[in-house]
Amino acid sequence: MSSAMVDLREVHKSFGPLEVLRGVDLQVTAGEVTVIIGPSGSGKSTLLRTVNHLEKVDSGSVSVDGGLVGYRRVGDRLHELPEREILRQRTKIGFVFQNFNLFPHLTVRQNVTEAPLAAQRRPRAEVDALAGRLLERVGLADKAGAYPRQLSGGQQQRVAIARALALEPKVILFDEPTSALDPELVGEVLDVVKDLARSGTTMIVVTHEIGFAREVADTVVFMDGGRVVERGTPAQVLDAPRHGRTRLFLSKVL
Ligand code: ADP
Ligand code: MG
Repeated sequence: MSSAMVDLREVHKSFGPLEVLRGVDLQVTAGEVTVIIGPSGSGKSTLLRTVNHLEKVDSGSVSVDGGLVGYRRVGDRLHELPEREILRQRTKIGFVFQNFNLFPHLTVRQNVTEAPLAAQRRPRAEVDALAGRLLERVGLADKAGAYPRQLSGGQQQRVAIARALALEPKVILFDEPTSALDPELVGEVLDVVKDLARSGTTMIVVTHEIGFAREVADTVVFMDGGRVVERGTPAQVLDAPRHGRTRLFLSKVL
């Protein structure tokens, strides 16, 4: 049994003839921030999606907080869990998408309270108080009654982060959280992610923001062609990469 909060072992995933993940191992320690970098098409989003079983793996295993995600082990065989169980597991795994994915017909406050009320059946007064604290934390206390379309992209993404936090997840996955933003809005979102990092939230962040990776990551993972090519501290991977492919990638994004 591993002590990693997130533990991927030999994960393989194909779409038809295309093998997108070719035996990925990834361990993320509780309280740490892992940043994944790599070229477009290298499998970063697919990897994140396997962590909460939005994609089923073809072989290998995914564990979060010591429990298999999506499966139950019976003897030496794995049986997929019923949808209800998978949904319950997902409440422990926050996901922040590139395009925010807020509910357009709900207010900011309702976006944050929806899952704790519906999925966790927590009392409304408690959940409303929690939403107030979280919106304060991401700097949007004054927008609680607004609808997503009335907000900037940066504000919408901060709501999405508050929404992920509302379920008190064990880990939060970020898939290029600032790629859809105008450049002047990137900083306000990264500042919120940095604040989470300082408070010890376990996170996996796919991003092209190398400066952010240098400042915030405990571990940087470089992926290419469905494999982890190298991993290490930001200083190791970003300043002294061992592999030519990593150097080539960094020369393009830095
Ligand atoms: P990245 O996030 O690193 O850009 P992705 O994980 O999104 O990479 O995609 C890796 C490869 O898998 C790409 O070639 C992409 O076109 C392909 N792919 C991703 N999702 C699907 C899918 N649902 N069906 C078919 N191919 C897919
Ligand atoms: Mg992607």
